Amino acid sequence: MTVPADTRERAEIEREHWRAGVDAGLGDARDLPLDAHLHTIHSPDADALLDAYAALAVERGIAELAITDHVDFDPSMPAYGYASFADRERDVREAAERWAPHGLAIRFGVEVTYERRLEDDIRGWLRRHPHDYAIGSVHISATSPYKASSVASFVAGRSLPDIVGPYFDEVIGAARSGLFDTIGHLDFVKRYLVPHVLPLDLAAAPELYEPVLAAMIESGTALEVNASGLRQLPRETYPSAAIVARYRELGGRHVTVGSDAHRTEWFAYGLGEAYRHAMRAGFETLAFRRGGDRVAVPMPAAAASSAAAVFGGGECA
Ligand SMILES: [Zn+2]
Ligand SMILES: [Zn+2]
Repeated sequence: MTVPADTRERAEIEREHWRAGVDAGLGDARDLPLDAHLHTIHSPDADALLDAYAALAVERGIAELAITDHVDFDPSMPAYGYASFADRERDVREAAERWAPHGLAIRFGVEVTYERRLEDDIRGWLRRHPHDYAIGSVHISATSPYKASSVASFVAGRSLPDIVGPYFDEVIGAARSGLFDTIGHLDFVKRYLVPHVLPLDLAAAPELYEPVLAAMIESGTALEVNASGLRQLPRETYPSAAIVARYRELGGRHVTVGSDAHRTEWFAYGLGEAYRHAMRAGFETLAFRRGGDRVAVPMPAAAASSAAAVFGGGECA
């Protein structure tokens, strides 16, 4: 395992993972009903144009997109004050009108960075700024112990529960807040823990996820199977197939999927894999919202048969 000495090196390693995945067919997702997590130029870390995603979606038979640009509430975070609600909404609604005649539905979503200490601000803002669909995610801030310059000293001498505890505790706060349709990339922290703690280490301790999953089930907040981990250091979805299955076993009934693309070439990358994890866990629909009440989006028949073909009766890769 290569040790990422800095963020530049991590970016290079992840570029290699992405290319290897493209060679393995992860970039070929098609004929799917929904990609519910996408970033455009209205996110500070993204450079994709909405129309570029839309053209690819029409070409590949992906029927519906949620544009979920970042909104941050901590002034030190990059998406704080980055794009106005009015600009984001206008661009998405106008694109939706342009692309509807091509059979593509585009929804106005948001990915809010959740922090417990900012929950009141987030609650007030979401009430005043309604979206079709809202993801709540815990990200790694400049003061986080998981950031590249402090993670090694943070993990040293700590147990695995103590290492992931602060991250999962914030995720529990996001779920219990009831503010979000969905929790984004449930265990995104595993990207920042490589190489000190590996995805395999977390896979050996599924009980660490159970309080988080219980909070989501109690509050009715959906679980997202986020494909971006397949092109990042963990090389698996956030969360893994095993955790998606555990959520279902514990009584979880609301799952969704997203590629979390930030660049045009990442559009729908790994999305088929995310669908397969959800379907193999027993989900027959995706949980989504188009404004108003939650809706159920049926899983694609084609992906179900390819899941059977790819994985047979064995374990999810
Ligand atoms: Zn995110
Ligand atoms: Zn995102």
